Amino acid sequence: MIYLDNAATTRVCPQAAQAALEAMTEQYGNPSSRYPLGREAAKRLKDQRSQVAAALGCAAEEIFFTSCGTEGDNWAIRGAVELGKRKGKHIITTAFEHSAVLEPCKALEREGYEVTWLKPDKTGHISIDDLTAALRPDTVLVSMMLVNNELGTIQPVAEAARAIKAAHSPALLHTDAVQAFLKIPFTPKALGVDLLTISGHKVRAPKGVGALYIRKGLRFPPLMLGGGQEEGMRPGTEATAQTAAFAAACAVGKAEMNSYTTRMKELKEYALDSLLGAIPELKQVGESDAPHILCLTLPGYKSEVLVRVLGDMGVCVSAGSACHRGKPSHVFAAMGLPKNEMDGAFRVSFSPDSTREDVDGLREALIKARDTLFTTLS
Ligand code: PLP
Repeated sequence: MIYLDNAATTRVCPQAAQAALEAMTEQYGNPSSRYPLGREAAKRLKDQRSQVAAALGCAAEEIFFTSCGTEGDNWAIRGAVELGKRKGKHIITTAFEHSAVLEPCKALEREGYEVTWLKPDKTGHISIDDLTAALRPDTVLVSMMLVNNELGTIQPVAEAARAIKAAHSPALLHTDAVQAFLKIPFTPKALGVDLLTISGHKVRAPKGVGALYIRKGLRFPPLMLGGGQEEGMRPGTEATAQTAAFAAACAVGKAEMNSYTTRMKELKEYALDSLLGAIPELKQVGESDAPHILCLTLPGYKSEVLVRVLGDMGVCVSAGSACHRGKPSHVFAAMGLPKNEMDGAFRVSFSPDSTREDVDGLREALIKARDTLFTTLS
């Protein structure tokens, strides 16, 4: 099998799998329990928080474990509007966020909030001038993703923070950094954000864990109420196997970040040259900046069919939101892509384990799929 869908999820790294196994079979105490097994679990949880914080470049007290990126995004958005409810009911976000941001914003729209949806340009980037023009005295939240999950484009989040400050706006700034964490260098402080979401399974930890960064000093409300865990901010018995694995994956990911990203960047360049060279109809969509995501299109073909045919040949890539329940991708629609390019778009995404042989296999499978589908179509 050739797995080139690492923006969807990654294979768990051995260090993370080992840490999870130990947490489940040996250090299985509840961190709230007062006897040694529990106290040991609490101590480990503290260390794990510090490891995730070190990988992100923030203080341990600013990290709150969640169950996934979707939870972090929902919490950030709901919490920010709750905090700002006396200041206004205006939100700014982008039209090509992940549904974990889009859907809570749409829900708030139905509840009477006004949402300004910033559109990306043809390269897949948001303009700061558009954001500056949209800011109002009653804007309480700006949510802008750091790396777009379909295109791999980096958004101007640090510039957004400066624009908010320059406008003396009361808005909090949230960024969904799920596809950026350990792929591009940043810290929450350097970006100037108040809230930032990350997810474990995109960085070789298991599914079922993530974290929300909440800037120190921000009195932020919890999303749920319960037993007081995570300083009362995110109750529920801590998922110690997942947090152990997340911390282990973060430690490896941070230590190896330079070599991993260099390798993925080189592979992305190789894929672009090799695929576009062999298949003249193939085109790149947007101008990917992140090392691990490449969006391509085979105009005239249907990506959901292409992805299924490639899958049958053992090659995993993603049609992503390109075929979201048969509807056109909101990402490509927001970019104003022509219909035939929109329909044929698919995403290739790398991990540090991906190889040139994987790309070669994809190229051969793509050629076969194109020829088979062309014959079927004609
Ligand atoms: N945000 C982005 C940009 C993503 O790519 C994803 C997952 O694909 C999420 C949020 C949701 O993360 P999770 O799957 O951990 O809920």
